[in-house]
Parts: sequence; structure tokens; C-alpha cells
Amino acid sequence: MQNNTTEKRVRRNVLLMGAAVLFVALAVVICLVLKDRQGSAKLFRIRFGSGTVAEYDAYESRTIVIRDGVIVDQATGEGEENVIRIENGAAWMEKATCPHHECMEQGALRADTVLKRPLGAWIICAPHGVSIEYVGGGE
Ligand SMILES: [Zn+2]
Repeated sequence: MQNNTTEKRVRRNVLLMGAAVLFVALAVVICLVLKDRQGSAKLFRIRFGSGTVAEYDAYESRTIVIRDGVIVDQATGEGEENVIRIENGAAWMEKATCPHHECMEQGALRADTVLKRPLGAWIICAPHGVSIEYVGGGE
């Protein structure tokens, strides 16, 4: 009888330990998957208008035109306009109608130079309330 209970207890402990090991293994796998996903997501997050946020893949080339707080098809050089270019993992302000073109002088945001820029992962056009942020794992 005594033996039997001890055996049961041992068996239960082994089961508990097994469950704990499985749990830890699962947690590690989940962490790795999440980390990998974060590391591979490279995108540009553009904020404009009254709190609008748009995200674009850093490696899909495109031109984004924002005029007076909304995305439009064509640049006309009128109103508060910003022309953002995304190409090959880099983004920059190609044109802007803001007074001093400071956003155009901020250069390109790139995965490998993001930490060396004075403004870090940002290009900001303060007069127009337009910003570009690089989001993703550094290289
Ligand atoms: Zn500007």
C-alpha cells in the first residue's frame, strides 16, 4: 500500500516535470517565432493628417503623395504637399512644398544607417505634420 502511493506520487511528479519541460519548450519556440517576425518586418510607417498612419513594405518601391493631410495620386506642387519615395529598403522626402525643405535635407532612412542619423529612425516635416518612421530590425 505504502509502495503503491509512493509509486503514484513519483509517476505524478514525472508527469508534472514533463509538462513543465513541454511548457518551457513551447515558450521558447513562441519567443523565437516572435523575435524572428520582428526582425524581418522592415517597413516605413508614415503619419500625416490628423493621426492617419500608413505602413509600407520597405522593399516595395513606390511614391506616396500626401496633400493637405490625405494621400492623392498625383503631385501638383500645390497646397501642403509631400512626395515620399520608397525604394530598395530606403525612404526619403523627394519633394515638399514646406517653406525651408528641411524634410528633404534629412536624407534617406535606411536599415543600415538608421542609428547613425541625427534624427534616428525618423524623417519629419514639421510644418506639414508628416513623418516617416523606419520600423524593423536593424542590420
Ligand atoms: Zn517639409
